[in-house]
Order: sequence, then C-alpha cells, then structure tokens
Amino acid sequence: MTDITALNTADLNSFVSRRWDEAITPTLVDYIRIPNKSPAFDPQWAEHGYMDAAVDLLANWARTALEQTKDATVEVVRLEGRTPVILIEIAGASDDTVLLYGHLDKQPEMTGWSDGLGPWIPVLKDGKLYGRGGADDGYAMFGAITAIQALQAQGGQHARCVILIEACEESGSYDLPFYVRHLAERIGQPSLVVCLDSGCGNYDQLWLTTSLRGMTGGVLDVMILEEGVHSGDASGVVPSSFRILRQILSRLEDETTGTITPAAFNASIPQERIDQARRAAQSLGDEVFAKFPFVEGARPVATDLVELILNRTWRPQLAVTGVDGIPGLESAGNVLRPHTAVKLSLRLPPTADAVKAGADLKALLERDPPYGAKVCFTLEKAGSGWNAPAIAPWLATAIDAASHATFGQPAALMGEGGSIPFMGMLGETFPDAQFVITGVLGPHSNAHGPNEFLHLQTGKNVTASVAIVLAAHFAR
Ligand SMILES: [Zn+2]
Repeated sequence: MTDITALNTADLNSFVSRRWDEAITPTLVDYIRIPNKSPAFDPQWAEHGYMDAAVDLLANWARTALEQTKDATVEVVRLEGRTPVILIEIAGASDDTVLLYGHLDKQPEMTGWSDGLGPWIPVLKDGKLYGRGGADDGYAMFGAITAIQALQAQGGQHARCVILIEACEESGSYDLPFYVRHLAERIGQPSLVVCLDSGCGNYDQLWLTTSLRGMTGGVLDVMILEEGVHSGDASGVVPSSFRILRQILSRLEDETTGTITPAAFNASIPQERIDQARRAAQSLGDEVFAKFPFVEGARPVATDLVELILNRTWRPQLAVTGVDGIPGLESAGNVLRPHTAVKLSLRLPPTADAVKAGADLKALLERDPPYGAKVCFTLEKAGSGWNAPAIAPWLATAIDAASHATFGQPAALMGEGGSIPFMGMLGETFPDAQFVITGVLGPHSNAHGPNEFLHLQTGKNVTASVAIVLAAHFAR
C-alpha cells in the first residue's frame, strides 16, 4: 500500500469498534479493579503483588490477541529491584521502527468520588468507563495492538512495531532509563514515536500534543521552634512559621496573579506555539476553563483564552500538593506551631532544564531565611519537558486524514500542561524521530482526581487514527 486513501476506513473503524466492545472494555473493567498504584504511592508494590497482577492481565491479553499474528512476541522484562515493563515486538514490512508507548501503573485513590463510583470500582455509564487508570493509561497497550491488527486486517502495511508499556510513569519513570538501556538493541532507532498517554482538548477531533511541561518540586520545611507553645503567650514575639513560609513562597510566586516571577523558571514561547494556542482557543472556546469543576461564582486566572492556554502549557506554575506540621481542623488548638512544611510541585516550560531549575529553586527558597528560621528544601523530582520537533509534511497530512476518517473533523494541535518524563528522554535520544503524542484525557476525564473516566468512543477513534498514521508512516 502506498497511499492511505486506499484504506477502507469504514471497515477499519468497525474492526476497532468491535474489538473494543468485545475484548478491550471487558478487560479494562478487570484492570480497574486492581489497585496497582505507582511505586511512589505504594512503596511495597512488590510485596502487595498488584503490579504483577496488572502486568499478568495485560500480558496475557496481548499473548492471546497476538496468537495468530505473524512474528509477534510478548515479553515481561524484569530488572532486579525495578518495576517491570511489557515489551511487544511485531514484525513489519520494513525494518524501520515505530515505538508505541504507554504505562500501566496508576495514580493513588484521591478523595471526592461520586456516589457509586470509586477508584477500584469499574462503572460503565453513558459511553464512559469510570475508575482509576482506564484512561491514564491502561487503554494504551490495547489501543496500540488493536491499531496494528486493524491495519493488517485491511491489508495495510506498517514498519516494525515495538510496544513498550512501563509501570513507573506516575512516579516519574525513574526505572525506565534502565530498561531503555537494557533493551536498546531491541528498541532500535525509531523514526516514529507514538505515545498514547496524553490529553485531548475535546472528544470531537484528534488532538496532537505539541509540547509537555517539565516539573520540579519537593518539600519546603520552615522550622522556628523546638516545640509548640501557647499562641497567646508567644505570638508577637515568635514569628509564625506559616507567615515565614508565605514570605518565602512570594520569592517564587506572585500571590495576586500566580505568575512565577524569577526569570530562571521562565522560557520564551516560540511563535508557532502561540499561533497554535490561538487556533486551539478558537476550537475550544470557554471549554478551556469550563472543563474544570469550579464552584459556583468562581472564575479562571485570566479572561483571555489564549493566555490561559499558554499559562497551562508554556509557563511555570506552582501547586502546593501536601502539608505537614498543621493539624487537622478538629485537633487545632491555640498554639504557635513549631514548623510548617509543604510539598511543592512546580511545572516548568517545555524547554527548561529541570535539573538546573531544581537547583535554582533550592537556592531561591533557602537563601537568607527570615528571622534566622531553619528553612530546608528537599528536592524530590526533576523531569524536563518536551517540545515537538517540526512536524513532517507526511505526518501533518496523516493526522488530519486520520481525524477526518475517525472523528469526522480536522485534527488539532496543542501543548499539554502535564509531563510525560519518557518523552523528554526520547526527544533527546532520537532527535530525528517524529512524535504522535495523543490520548483520551479530555474534558472532565479527571486523571489523577476523582471520577476519572475513559471516553470509549474517543478510545476507539484514537486507536483507528493510530492505524492510519502507521500506514502513512510506512508509505512516506
Ligand atoms: Zn499517564
């Protein structure tokens, strides 16, 4: 096949749809029941055995699905003391390589799930599969295998495909570089990377992720007293550790606007990305902010939609994700507490060097402690972001054709605010590769939060789109 227009896309879509209904969705239902939290959230993951259960479920499904497929292998690879990976190789009509990536570890439970829903309770409702990890990112392996088989069933050809499913992504993929080194020969030199772990602006078209933010962060602890004392006795004499913390955070963040002020954490935004943000804003309208569950009367950081998109995709932003040294409300007495600690998560521009940013952050927070307080920042993570290389003309054509054939709408491009650490690594290792980073994490799908769902029709459309992109890659 030399031309994707020769593909019967109606047959392709129905192959994919049937496979999802008959084999993928029922397995994802079982998968959601397994609490296989990423190692950062379950340090005893190995003893608990949930990760192994999830790996077995997926690997066994893959073996069955690929039984009749020529020259296909499924292997669970385990390096001592590390989370496992699933490596699937499917021979193609050329030795050129496509790497397809996803992960099977999950975020922790989080509170706030609606009645009848829960992280480990699969619920099918209104075309959505609720539960932790279905959309982020359990569906990826199923989608990748099905895309390849759907293409084969239509007589289409593709390059050699390597599917890599890791189990450490939600912890920052710290095990993955060891596997990439270990499997370097088998992975080869991919000319196309397909990552099925990203977001989509809506459920109406195929979204290609053009950038991902990086991240750094850790624990900031402000200590002022050896032990807590009566606040009536001490306030006015002993400075509050909470106030010192606020003061220190203001070095980083303008508390009125949320702007991260030091130049060290900012980057200039390429004009092409600003233009894409403008088009994405037109396509999305108020959904840019309305997709978030604001309380009544609340509004976003800015009114300009393009600014909101750029804030979310290209600008550093701070989230305080945890706290220590402050008791719960029911046990809060009138006391001047000895210390206040917070966990900081600082998103970084796609092009920022996360290791350098982490060192800069530590220096910024620890210098000149107010009142001589003991201020300690423990760096916990540093993952650089990713900015897509210029898109090849064949790929631009292919994603648009794929979006039309599956969603019936043109494709759209936008940066994503989250991080996929592996993409940064791959971008460095394979600077000449093209990237298709897409996913099903659209409005309200709420990965990492309560009520996470997988939008099933989007899962099908993304799967069929990957098939079309693989055909175009081979024919390029
Ligand atoms: Zn993910």
